[in-house]
Amino acid sequence: MHFDTRAIHDGYDPVKHFGAVNPPVFLSSTFAQHSPGKHAGYEYARSGNPTREALEGVLASLEEGQYACAFSSGLAATDSIIKLLNAGDHVIMADDVYGGTFRIFDKTFKRFGVDFTMVDTTVVANVEKAITPRTKMLFIESPSNPLLKINDIEALCRLARSRKIISVVDNTFATPYLQQPLNLGADIVMHSATKYLGGHSDVILGAAITRDANLHQHIKFNQNASGGVPGFLDCYLVHRGIKTLGVRVERACDNAEQVVSFLLEHKKVTRVHYPALEKHPNHKVAARQMKRFGAMIAFEIDGSVADGERVVSGRKVWTLGESLGGVESLLEHPASMTHASIPRELRLKAGLTDGLIRLSCGIEHADDLIADLEEGLASY
Ligand SMILES: *Cc1c(COP(=O)(O)O)cnc(C)c1O
Repeated sequence: MHFDTRAIHDGYDPVKHFGAVNPPVFLSSTFAQHSPGKHAGYEYARSGNPTREALEGVLASLEEGQYACAFSSGLAATDSIIKLLNAGDHVIMADDVYGGTFRIFDKTFKRFGVDFTMVDTTVVANVEKAITPRTKMLFIESPSNPLLKINDIEALCRLARSRKIISVVDNTFATPYLQQPLNLGADIVMHSATKYLGGHSDVILGAAITRDANLHQHIKFNQNASGGVPGFLDCYLVHRGIKTLGVRVERACDNAEQVVSFLLEHKKVTRVHYPALEKHPNHKVAARQMKRFGAMIAFEIDGSVADGERVVSGRKVWTLGESLGGVESLLEHPASMTHASIPRELRLKAGLTDGLIRLSCGIEHADDLIADLEEGLASY
């Protein structure tokens, strides 16, 4: 069946629940047993519960995986994925992964003996060079944050597989509607469902999806053993959000295309980062592996940090904030917000200029989004 149909019907069977069209929220931490160890499928809700299982079912379906585990946040999912590794193992990671992903590797798992190397994964040969006999995991995102770099998921995962390296793709920015990394050869897909899957900026949740029974068993063990599980209501909210994922992403992509056209024409905008543009360095790869090019955009003005702050401040439609993927459009200024802790020289070296602005297009009317940006750009 098609994606939009699966998004609405998979994971849950109304017939088993009095015909209720929505999965019931079972507010129950424990389940009565007939006799010790004999129960109706659930015993203690950290290990499993019907509301979470419904969500996990639809998540597995949308990523075209076999199994999914839901977590209390994207980072809790990442935590359980890293715990597939042992002390002494080595990880190759994209040099622009989500800041929290870098932090958990650098500040937490390094202390437990898991080493990592960051490379520019947009060039497959860089990854090949970084592989050591101890390398056990490759961790990438595409598109990446905030410069929308594109990684060739198929080529990178093929390389990883040939060296028995577990490949993990953070598919938060693209969503399974636009890109299915498991179909491109990834072993594990992870999500911050906080973003597009939830879609309404009202919940924090994460997920890990795979086709590999052994990997799943181990991740599921970690889910229960570490306990980073989502609340019942949060599972319901993300499940509800998923039902409109297709229409939301289509509309957000439409808006993004119009916003990009506006930015390309604007005389104060010096550069636009968007994978649909032919001069984007990996445009062809993006065109191959994505259905559309997403609703995340970055653009630059030739101005100071203060100028960037002026453009993003006081907007009437765009919300100034750090997340993404909600129905409301969000914008942020990396130099003074998400990437402010990086010393300026390093920040510039990574291409994050003082006047770089990141946009997450929501589903408002494009004309209002453009008029508001116009006003922002006129303010410096
Ligand atoms: C937000 C985000 C995460 C972390 O997810 P949380 O739900 O905030 O824990 C991981 N990866 C990407 C790409 C993100 O945007």
